[in-house]
Amino acid sequence: MATTTVKPRKASYKNILLKKREELLASIRSEPDALSIMQTPDEVEFAVKTAEQDLSAVTADMRSRTLREIDGALARVSRGSYGVCEGCGEDISPARLKAIPWARYCVVCQELRSRN
Ligand SMILES: [Zn+2]
Repeated sequence: MATTTVKPRKASYKNILLKKREELLASIRSEPDALSIMQTPDEVEFAVKTAEQDLSAVTADMRSRTLREIDGALARVSRGSYGVCEGCGEDISPARLKAIPWARYCVVCQELRSRN
């Protein structure tokens, strides 16, 4: 008797993670060097540029954080624990993994963690 339920292949998630990792690294490399931004004596212009730099610092931080999450997910793929919630040990839903391939927790555990 053939089974109709097909488990998502872990290998495809690995490819998604590797691709996402490549994209992140490429965007980090293409980031304009903050020091190369021309300084102007105009105070308004300066304020705008400062705000822009703050923003790019935030996204750079987000990128490196996401990069670490992806590396962690790739490590779990090789350990065979990928797609398993670190909180409750249940399988993380394929829909969630599709949205966040490096998710470490199921929706319930993530919700609990973000509340604390
Ligand atoms: Zn969980």
